Amino acid sequence: SLFRQLRFHTTVNDLHMLPGGGIEVAFAGRSNAGKSSAINTLADHNRLAFVSKTPGRTQHINYFDFGQGRFLVDLPGYGYAQVPEPIRAHWEHLLGQYLATRPNLIGLVLLMDARHPLKPLDERMLDWFIPTGRPVHALLTKADKLTKQEQAKTLNAVRDKLAAWPQCTVQLFSSLKKTGIEEAENVVGGWFAA
Ligand code: GDP
Repeated sequence: SLFRQLRFHTTVNDLHMLPGGGIEVAFAGRSNAGKSSAINTLADHNRLAFVSKTPGRTQHINYFDFGQGRFLVDLPGYGYAQVPEPIRAHWEHLLGQYLATRPNLIGLVLLMDARHPLKPLDERMLDWFIPTGRPVHALLTKADKLTKQEQAKTLNAVRDKLAAWPQCTVQLFSSLKKTGIEEAENVVGGWFAA
């Protein structure tokens, strides 16, 4: 399976310092969205991406290797209230530049807490990336915190909102229950195979 091949590659402190060559998918989401947990769950590895109890403290970009010139870029969580506004603004600017112009980037996995999807900053990520015409896959995380009925309702609501862009897909995901792994793998695997 694709994600089980993931290995840590490098950490960079600046989006201008990303390695060249190869193709990559980016994982983005608000701080605390469950991104590190999702990467660990997908990779079936407990500590591949460090699961932080104090979100947003570092802005390191973790770079993981699938082999064969394929990478996963774990972007720092955005929207962390404790980070001073000028630093947040600077970071969001870099993130926008990266999403809009990175030639190596073939797709975006957007992680959102299933209880609070499509916050303004999530929509800003979409605004930056959608014009590239490349695919976006939304993972509605921590789905275990919702009832089955709430899960279906959220999935439909987000699907409806993203329906304007045919390159967007969405699914439920839970690291706790380990659900949604195969679906996520099929989507990202499809991007690399295209
Ligand atoms: P990140 O900041 O986006 O990397 O988020 P983390 O992966 O560090 O997770 C943030 C918090 O949400 C942690 O306390 C996790 O234990 C919790 N969490 C992450 N995924 C899940 C999930 O699938 N279910 C539940 N119930 N909690 C989760």
